[in-house]
Amino acid sequence: MTVELAPAPAPLAGAAPRPRIFSGIQPSGIVHLGNDLGAVRNYVMLQYEYEAIYCIVDYHALTSTHDPDLMRIRTRELAAGLLALGLDPDRCTLFVQSHRPEHTELAWLLCTVTPVSWLERTPTYKDKVATQPDDVNHGLLTYPVLQAADIIIYKASMVPVGKDQAAHLELSREIVRAFNYRYGETFPEPQAVFTSAPVVLGTDGVKKMSKSVGNTIDILGEPDLIRRQVMSMVTDTQRGLRSDPGRPEVCNVCQLHRFFGDDYQEIWEGERTARTGCVDTKKLLVERIVTHYAGARERYAELMANPAEVDGILEAGADRLKPMAKATMAEVKEKMGLR
Ligand code: ATP
Ligand code: MG
Repeated sequence: MTVELAPAPAPLAGAAPRPRIFSGIQPSGIVHLGNDLGAVRNYVMLQYEYEAIYCIVDYHALTSTHDPDLMRIRTRELAAGLLALGLDPDRCTLFVQSHRPEHTELAWLLCTVTPVSWLERTPTYKDKVATQPDDVNHGLLTYPVLQAADIIIYKASMVPVGKDQAAHLELSREIVRAFNYRYGETFPEPQAVFTSAPVVLGTDGVKKMSKSVGNTIDILGEPDLIRRQVMSMVTDTQRGLRSDPGRPEVCNVCQLHRFFGDDYQEIWEGERTARTGCVDTKKLLVERIVTHYAGARERYAELMANPAEVDGILEAGADRLKPMAKATMAEVKEKMGLR
């Protein structure tokens, strides 16, 4: 898979010599195909070249998940999932957001340079207001400010994410500009890094695949679950009969074949000429996804059977970041006249 890297900005005085990258993922469910193709593959690849920091953003997940037991379980499951997919604790830092209290401290300071109007216009905020109208908590509005704090507390200059995060990243950049303008050059403007699958559609074929929507393909789940999820995928809705020519360009199943196997053109042609039907293409995709993630699924089961190992990695990650987070807070407080 090719990576479309944005050019790295020039490092600021005091910033890391090797560009630092940061990304967060919510413990709102089990890691799915969209997470992997849109972000986690880049996490894995970039850990070899950059100083990589990856965060399980439980504070963000609290804006929609209110069950403490579920939060605990999902945090560990997500950590195990990311490690199983290839994050190497010797090459990157993996930690839990709430284990580093400086994130929320910085978020408050950033709130004071962020106009409310910027937050109210955020598309994800509007979506959440629509999807959870009875729970429009303040955290939903402030979410992008905390996200900016997550990134810039480590002065990260690049952020591997899916396209759905582009607006948030733009807002982070605006917040950085507002801070730097008021208090002097302090933070680099973080840039998004996308994969060649920046938006993976869900099994409904309409919305982006999301843990919270439940239209996912759970790559670390049992093969039978993957089979049921893939077989339920909505494909080309205009293709009525098996003998009708398909439209591979709008068929989500065909599109996903781009990332598994090297015969995408053949599959495309098969659908277009009605040589193959949707069921054939789905069955092949199931087989390929199950095979592709077999090793990760095994590793995931091992890690889940050994929670102390996972918890130890997360704790060590948060400890490793402490000096960096403290140094940024000291600098920021000095600049803001708080000491
Ligand atoms: P939620 O529904 O709780 O928001 P999610 O499935 O959207 O969960 P996140 O934790 O919000 O997952 O996102 C983790 C990373 O995966 C982000 O970088 C995000 O941009 C990326 N990502 C999420 N869904 C997709 C998708 N369908 N296609 C491509 N990238 C995605
Ligand atoms: Mg999301």
